[in-house]
Amino acid sequence: MQALRVSCTECGACCAAFRVSFHKSELAHGDVPGVPPAMAVHEVANTMRMCGTDESVSRCVALEGEVGKQVSCSIYPLRPSPCREFGQLAAVGIYEEACNRARSRHGLPPLPVEQW
Ligand code: SF4
Ligand code: SF4
Repeated sequence: MQALRVSCTECGACCAAFRVSFHKSELAHGDVPGVPPAMAVHEVANTMRMCGTDESVSRCVALEGEVGKQVSCSIYPLRPSPCREFGQLAAVGIYEEACNRARSRHGLPPLPVEQW
């Protein structure tokens, strides 16, 4: 049987499962591009959090579309570092255990996790 493979644009579970916190220096400021300040809230000290990612039903304010069907990030080129670092190899079919934790919260089937 062939292992299930999905692209992140058919999934999006991680954008609607985990808290996304990042250093405030990643916010747009002056002429420097970055996360739009209106999409983030102050968390603690120098840490910001993407709006919507700390709710009881988590969903990042920048996520568009339907999880498990078709999604996109409205600030993709400007997304904060946790988003850039998470599931970096998912595009080539190498998933993280955390992908499946996120997917399970949405009733989505697990993906084959690469054993490192
Ligand atoms: S990184 Fe993992 S959980 Fe996130 S969209 Fe891609 S496959 Fe889904
Ligand atoms: S900023 Fe974009 S990539 Fe990061 S959690 Fe939100 S929707 Fe997902």
